[in-house]
This record gives sequence, structure tokens and C-alpha cells, in this order.
Amino acid sequence: MRNIELLEVTNIVKKSVIDINYNLDQSLVSLIQKAKNRETKDLSKSILSDILENQEIARNGQVPLCQDTGVVVVFLEVGTEVTFHGDIYEAINEGVRQGYKEGFLRNSMVFHPFDRVNTRDNTPAIIHTKLVKGDKIKLHIASKGGGSENMSKVVMLSPSEGIQGVKKLVLDTVFAAGGKPCPPIIVGIGIGGNFEKSAILAKEALFRDLSDSNPDETIRNLENELYDEINKLGVGPMGVGGETTCLAVKINYYPMHIASLPVAINIQCHSARHTEVEL
Ligand code: SF4
Repeated sequence: MRNIELLEVTNIVKKSVIDINYNLDQSLVSLIQKAKNRETKDLSKSILSDILENQEIARNGQVPLCQDTGVVVVFLEVGTEVTFHGDIYEAINEGVRQGYKEGFLRNSMVFHPFDRVNTRDNTPAIIHTKLVKGDKIKLHIASKGGGSENMSKVVMLSPSEGIQGVKKLVLDTVFAAGGKPCPPIIVGIGIGGNFEKSAILAKEALFRDLSDSNPDETIRNLENELYDEINKLGVGPMGVGGETTCLAVKINYYPMHIASLPVAINIQCHSARHTEVEL
């Protein structure tokens, strides 16, 4: 068994939340750059230029990319040959607490659905835990903005609606969202499992490498078709119209009940802030 010091977990979470809020991933930057070169409308091009300039200012000045520095979501993988002494969830939350303070990141969490009192340190993080083989822990860490999260959806389709039903649902959802989730967006889709599993699959899909290729041919084709169809919707950068509504579509799936076809659509804005660390 290998012991993991929880202080290391706190420190890595602290560093990660600051880092992802200041530095947009280079693979995403290059997709936005390509989209800008493709756009034909001046206004859409200029919005993409502004997004690129904004991320440069954030990187050079080490300031947040966006005023909404999000809710921290962590997918925690714990190896079965790992031990730790204490509360790993508290260690993660302490990292969030310290990172949001030291990085001057906005605290966005409120305690209660109706009194809306701020927790004042952006905790608690939303943590999903998985047991895996090995003697390591892995943390997939994201700061997820509220604007794009609010445009997300879980729907229980009937299996008879099939692939066409999924396509219609995704296109209707993205079109109805318009400029609200700050496009160009990344669309994470979860198909299968049950009600809550589909939402987790959709969120996990947003952590995938932007350039990866789905090993399942049917799902890969659906990702490609949806990417094309979404970009034909004409929503465009920040909703001003144009050819770039989405930068990627990622679909994760899971077995499901014979009577169900759960579909979750988790929309991610262009400030897609996430990272992966292993200890
Ligand atoms: S949706 Fe994204 S880019 Fe828009 S305000 Fe929220 S975090 Fe910022």
C-alpha cells in the first residue's frame, strides 16, 4: 500500500484551480484560432479575436479568464493500493478554499437554494469518486461556469426515438441556448445509464481530449454529424451569428434499462477550464 499525504492533495488542487482559471488550454486556443480563420462574417471573426485576446491578457497578466470562476468539479480516481489518513474530501475543499483566495477567484457557491448566502470560499466542490486499480490517485479538476451549466439538460427519451431523437434533442437544446452559454461551446453528451448516470457521463465527456477519436464507430459518427449540424445552426460566437457555434462534441455512453434512453447534454462555454493531475 502506498500512503498519500493529504497536504499534497490540497496543494495540487490549490495550484490547479488557479492555473486553469488563468491559462486556457493551448489545444482549445488553437481550435478558436482555426475557427476565427474560417469565419466569413466580420462580427463573428472579431468576437473570436476578442476571445483570443482575452485569454492572452489572462495568461500574461495571470488574472482570471472570466469573472465567473465557476464551481469546482472533481472526478477523483482512487487506486485500491492507496491509503491516506484523514478526509480526502476535506483536503480537496481546503485546496479550493486556498486557491480561490490566493488566486483572487470569485466565490460562486451559495449554501441554500433560497437564502442564497455565499459560502465565501467557493466550497464545497462537487466530487465524484471512483475506485480504480493501482497505487495512485488521479484528480480531474474543472472550474465550471454557471452560464453554460444553466443551459444543460437531462431528458428521458423513449428507446424508439433512437439516434434521430438524440440528434433532435441536442440541436434543439443548443439552438434554444443561443448566446447564453457564451459560444463557441463544447457539447458533452451522456447517453444511457439512468437519470443521474447520464448527467455524470455528459460531464465526464467534457474532460476528454479535444482531439481524441471515439473508439465506437456509431458514436464517433454521431459526434461528427452533431458537430457539423450544430455549426450550421448559425448561433455563432457569443450568439451574433456565424459558422462557429461549437468547437467539439463529445459523447460518452453506458448500458441502460431496456425501456429507457436517458440523454444528458452538458454545455461548456469557451472558457473550458480543466486539468488532470496524478499523485
Ligand atoms: S458561460 Fe463561461 S465564459 Fe460565459 S460568463 Fe460563464 S464562465 Fe464566463
